[in-house]
This record gives sequence, C-alpha cells and structure tokens, in this order.
Amino acid sequence: MAKQVVTRTYRARICNYSQVQNDLDSLGFAASKLWNVGRWTAQRVWDACGHIPGANALMTYLKNHERYADLHSQSSQRVLQELGEAFTSWYGKRRNGDTNANPPGYRKHNDNHPRSTITFKAAGFKHDTHNNRVRLSKGKNLKEEWSDFVLCEYDCIGPSDRTIENVQQIRAVYEHGIWRLHIVCRVSIDEAESPGDGVAGIDLGICNLATVSYGDESVLYPGGALKEDEYYFAKKRAETDDSASREARRLDTKRTDRRTHFLHTLSKDIVSECSKRGVGTIVVGDLSGIRDDENGDSRNWGKHGNLDLHGWAFDRFTSMLDYKAEERGIAVVTKSERNTSKTCSACGRSDDRQRVQRGLYVCKCGLVANADSNGAENIRQKVLPNLATDGGDRDNGWLAQPAVRLFDCSEGRFAPREQVGNREP
Ligand SMILES: [Zn+2]
Repeated sequence: MAKQVVTRTYRARICNYSQVQNDLDSLGFAASKLWNVGRWTAQRVWDACGHIPGANALMTYLKNHERYADLHSQSSQRVLQELGEAFTSWYGKRRNGDTNANPPGYRKHNDNHPRSTITFKAAGFKHDTHNNRVRLSKGKNLKEEWSDFVLCEYDCIGPSDRTIENVQQIRAVYEHGIWRLHIVCRVSIDEAESPGDGVAGIDLGICNLATVSYGDESVLYPGGALKEDEYYFAKKRAETDDSASREARRLDTKRTDRRTHFLHTLSKDIVSECSKRGVGTIVVGDLSGIRDDENGDSRNWGKHGNLDLHGWAFDRFTSMLDYKAEERGIAVVTKSERNTSKTCSACGRSDDRQRVQRGLYVCKCGLVANADSNGAENIRQKVLPNLATDGGDRDNGWLAQPAVRLFDCSEGRFAPREQVGNREP
C-alpha cells in the first residue's frame, strides 16, 4: 500500500519535572520578555513611519538585543514570528470589518511575565529516541557553567506503543500550571483509499456540539455530557479557596483531559459514520472568520455563544477530525459559516420568509427542518456543484427528524440515543 508522510503532534508529560521546572520557567519568562521588546519596537516603528514591521524586519532590528540571546536563536526567531502572525491576523480581522479586533498586546500582568510557549527547532534540541529524552538548548545568557541545556525525560500522553521519531520541533507549553512538551513528528502512514464520493457537512455549535448532514440523513451530537462536565468542574473549582493550589491545578488538568477525550471520541465517531456511508469529503464550518452581517454586531456569535469552550474546543476538534479522516482517506475542507444558519437549504433563499423557532427552521417554501440540520446541509452544499434549488420539492423530511447519537459514559463512546437510553436504570 502506498505511504504518505504526515505531521503529528504528541503531548508528553515531563518525568523529571522538579529538575527542569526552574529552567523552563526562566525560558518561558524570557520568551515573554522578548515578545514585549518586539511589541514595543513594532509600536515605535509604527509611530514613526505609520507601518508595522513584519517578523523578518523585527528579527533584523533585534538580533543583537540582549533579550534575543536569552533563548536559542531559533526559539527567539519563533517568538518574533508569532508576534508577526498576531499582527497579520489582526489586520485580517480589521479588513473583514471587525472593528472590535485589538492588536496583539504585551505579555505582562503587573510586574509578572507569564510563561510563554518556547519552540525548539532542529538546531535547538537533541532527541534520544531510545530513552525518551530530549535536550533543549538555552540561550547564551541563560547558560551556566554546569549546564547549557535542559534535559527532559518524557512520557507520552495517549497510546503507549507509539515510537517517537523524526522529530521536527518541540514546544514547551505551560498548561494550567504545569509544563508539558508538544512533540511534532513526521509520521509515515498507509495511504488509505477514499470511502467514496459522498459529501458530509458539519455544523459546530454549543447546544448540539456537532450536527452532520449526509444529504439524505442528519445526525445530531448533543453537547450535554460535555456541558455537565464543565458545570461540575466549574463548581468544584469555585469551592477551592486558592486558585493556584495543587487541588485547583489537578481539577484543571482533569477537565482538560476529559474534554480532550470527549472530542477524540466525537471526531472518531463522525469519521467512522462517514466511512460507513461512503463519504470522501467532509465540509466543516469555519468559525474563525464568522461575522454576523445582519445585526452588524461582530461580537455576536449567535448560537455559538461565548463559552470558554468555544475557541479551544473547535480548534482541537477540527485538528482531531482532520487527522482521523486522513487515515481513512477522507478529505476535510473548511468553508465559511457565513449565512449558513439563515439560508434555506431547500430553496436557497435567505430573506424574511424564514424563521427559527425553538430549534426549528421554517421556510415559506415548505421546508421545516431542525435548525442545526439545515445549517449542516448548507455547509455540505458549499462543495457541491450546481445543486438544484427547485423551490423545495425535494424529499427533505429527514432534515426535520435528525437521528441523535449520545455519549455513553459507561462505554466511553457515542451510540444511537435508543441504545444509550436503554442502559439507564
Ligand atoms: Zn425555502
């Protein structure tokens, strides 16, 4: 079978944590300080000549700056690239008319610097495959006589049979009060044959975390189990007196692990259902550029709410879906979600002849659909050529009666509602 090479990121915990914590802290602070120096420099150039320097210009200005040598040169480079990317993303939002978008800020809380992510590229680390160890280079300024690198012993989170090799990049990330390693590898996988020509559309939301439309069938994945979890952890967190305590940190880690597990299970189930139905392309609504034109209020995220889950979960979910689909030969494409919740998926109109009431989308053309199913079908149609908009006389009763797949806590997987319901006492 043909092979293809893909990129994977594995998370790992650090086994010799107490030995390396101080070093990682110093590097994380150094990355924040360099970011701030870059941010300040960008501001000065901006004030003086009216444009913001890009990452390359910043590197030229700052490569002899004292803070640049706190990190390995490639790590410093990456900090300034991130700053450049943050400016670019801000211009993009402004160009799209988002007047509330702010330029990247300083990384500072009063007198404290937060611990920024440190990226180690090829020349900045040495990986020992056999012993699960990695040496991370420090900058010139932070080297001491006895050590010019941080030696981390790690243990991968997830399947334990995995061999970590062909490492491209390592990131030290401060996650809820604890340093973790994100190890980016090149992995060779079997090139899977596409299951078919079918197209599925996925609408992501808060109430129904995902709604999938297959064109003749629609499936809802309610987010209830995840929401209950969030509620539980928020409550527990509020009961701890000290938000920096070990208990608070334990709760945060556990919450993240459970979210991650939930999203893995969800993406796995969707990919497997798609595969069964001969789907070769999955279309996902892209939330990053979303803007509510009609209300003229760019902060209004409508049905997506502003749950703290929102950005985090959707980014993670999409990347999980991406690689699981890839392994099955299914392509994932993202399309803007703009107007997909307002447009009628049967007649294609989006005027004042439609209304959404209690989760039902009703159009004068006769369509009555579950609102999320209608959205998912609109997303699906974004990659279909010349779909007939024939006034809604197609058979689309399936849009009104989506199937529901629920998370079965005892089994740790999704199953049709009927089956999950039967297990309850
Ligand atoms: Zn219609």
